[in-house]
Amino acid sequence: MIHYHTYDALVVGGGGAGMMSAIYLSRASGLKTAVISKLYPTRSHTGAAQGGIGAALGNLEEDHAEWHAFDTVKGSDYLGDQDAIDVMCREAIDVIVELEHMGLPFSRTPDGRIAQRPFGGHTHHHGQGPVRRSCYSADRTGHMILQTLYQNCIKNQVEFFDEFQAVDVLFNEGRCVGVVAYEVATGDFHVFNAKAVNFTTGGFGRVFSTTSNAYANTGDGPAIALRRGIPLEDMEFYQFHPTGIYRLGILITEGVRGEGGVLRNDHGERFMERYAPTMKDLASRDVVSRAINNEIKEGRGINGKRYVYLDATHLGAEVIEKKLPDIADFCRTYLGVDPVKDPMPIQPTAHYAMGGIPTDINGRVFADSRGTIIPGLYSAGETACVSVHGANRLGTNSLLDLVVFGRRSGIDMARFCAESDRGPLPSDAAGEAISRFERLRSGTGKENAGKLREELQITMMDNVGIIREEAGMKTAVEKVEELRRRYLDVEVMDKGTRFNTDLLEAWELGNLLDLARVVAVGALNRTESRGAHSREDYPKRNDEEWLKHTFVRQTEDGGVEIDYKPVTITDFQPKERVY
Ligand SMILES: Cc1cc2nc3c(=O)[nH]c(=O)nc-3n(C[C@H](O)[C@H](O)[C@H](O)COP(=O)(O)OP(=O)(O)OC[C@H]3O[C@@H](n4cnc5c(N)ncnc54)[C@H](O)[C@@H]3O)c2cc1C
Repeated sequence: MIHYHTYDALVVGGGGAGMMSAIYLSRASGLKTAVISKLYPTRSHTGAAQGGIGAALGNLEEDHAEWHAFDTVKGSDYLGDQDAIDVMCREAIDVIVELEHMGLPFSRTPDGRIAQRPFGGHTHHHGQGPVRRSCYSADRTGHMILQTLYQNCIKNQVEFFDEFQAVDVLFNEGRCVGVVAYEVATGDFHVFNAKAVNFTTGGFGRVFSTTSNAYANTGDGPAIALRRGIPLEDMEFYQFHPTGIYRLGILITEGVRGEGGVLRNDHGERFMERYAPTMKDLASRDVVSRAINNEIKEGRGINGKRYVYLDATHLGAEVIEKKLPDIADFCRTYLGVDPVKDPMPIQPTAHYAMGGIPTDINGRVFADSRGTIIPGLYSAGETACVSVHGANRLGTNSLLDLVVFGRRSGIDMARFCAESDRGPLPSDAAGEAISRFERLRSGTGKENAGKLREELQITMMDNVGIIREEAGMKTAVEKVEELRRRYLDVEVMDKGTRFNTDLLEAWELGNLLDLARVVAVGALNRTESRGAHSREDYPKRNDEEWLKHTFVRQTEDGGVEIDYKPVTITDFQPKERVY
């Protein structure tokens, strides 16, 4: 059954980015706004964010938006667009005050100001040592942001379609006119006709086998865009966070190191002093993850195994219980380790997509590397690539990206909706989505989606992970092609319509496969090391050839096409990156 809905503005995704844009849309007079979300909004992954949100408030020591911008550019290994970074760091201060006024319960200094703590790569005076810039709510910052934004959406009468999964985006004469969604509870299809659509569907960490990301992070938004001919930007840059719980990948926030926790190898050595003499354990994430990888490779993992220790035992019970209560709880529950008394076994975990749907600083989506705007189509948050994170994101800058560019996209969508009529739907709007789902549901082949997903995740982890080289990436490209062929033979066991998670997981696997190909192809093509893209066969950054963004597009015959776009450099010329 197909249902039809008409809105002015539609937001796909109920995480931090989506709800921030929805608040701004609903504030604009007379705009009918809806959010569709495959999860109940407050279960979105923003709720898992622990350590904090960056802003140069200077509440505890001198700080400036310009220092924040420098650190972000340096952290990005000079691939971030400096005009966008400048906007993000300047608007950070105002947006934190706005969140506080919306009711966000930040942790406090003794004199009542918003408390701040150090985080990796955030420095004073352009690299002279850590600065306290991360605003936090204990280690539940994302949870508090999500609850606050949701309450404000409800206050502003935003309409929610919970457990509705967007499966296609609709265009008419080059303009975005809506979305097709699948209703999880019934299996019905819904066609939403809107003047403007904002894709804010989060990350795709489920491409890898060890990840901090939730099961829902399957990159639906970028995959839908890719299938409709929209290029994806800088997908080869995927961040591995240094401290995931050994074997589980669940995140231990960088806030532990911000509070003074240190990494130790099997000899008990604080090894980051060798790799990053100034910033030590608070160097940027790509640097720390590579250092851990190297310690393990050289046999200094704990008991020769694939992990090292994160030691917070010297911080004392009061700091841990007050500032890191959830982390302490995770460790006791999942590891049987009490971080007050024992070090935590950790290993790097796939964490964050720097790349995504290419946009300008107002969230407007680009159709190509020349900057052609697609009218009515927007994107924000982890799904988008503005690009403020370049080749490596600094901790606390994602939550900031969500609220700054969520807000900016909401404001620009409101402008666009006020100036535009609603474009008509194309004929048979839901047709393609329905036939894709019916093909999957009726499949009687011999392949099992869960098995294919596991093979994909291991292939990507082993060959397109923290350290890469040509032969491994070629293996990954070939394997992903093989899996894409086998995917056509998948059998979905549940043939029903109600809560058919078997069917949805098979559909999501298709998204992961499409994105994995783009990640692997982009990585293979980039013959240099930069930020999170670290190649053994090309260990140096090569600005002469590679100071440019990758754009990968899926062609009509199912192949991929690569193109490049120059990086915007304003204040900070590229130089060697040392911490
Ligand atoms: C454990 C952890 C800790 C982190 N800690 C920090 C931190 O301290 N500071 C920081 O800056 N960053 C942190 N990050 C990163 C940051 O939390 C995320 O990048 C960010 O929250 C992503 O927000 P988002 O709004 O883009 O997406 P999400 O919050 O993931 O929301 C995505 C939304 O899209 C919806 N959706 C997805 N697909 C579909 C579909 N097909 N149809 C409809 N809806 C769909 C989902 O239901 C969800 O509502 C952390 C990440 C993790 C995993």
